[in-house]
Amino acid sequence: MSLVRCPNNSSHNEFVTTAHEVHDWVVDSDGNFIEDLGCSEIAVAPSIDNIWRCRICGAEAIVMDGFVEKRCWNV
Ligand SMILES: [Zn+2]
Repeated sequence: MSLVRCPNNSSHNEFVTTAHEVHDWVVDSDGNFIEDLGCSEIAVAPSIDNIWRCRICGAEAIVMDGFVEKRCWNV
């Protein structure tokens, strides 16, 4: 059973929701941004309390009560 599903089509299996990531930046001696080294840890993982939208059709998804794996989405 999926934790998140699209109300329009059960084959839609990609969703957009919010995670708060911690990124390490490379900065110069004045603290100015040079480069983002990417996600180093999760500050707040996506929650079942978030709005989740189907990436395919844009519908607001149905979210089941359950565990959402904590991980960096783009590493
Ligand atoms: Zn959908």
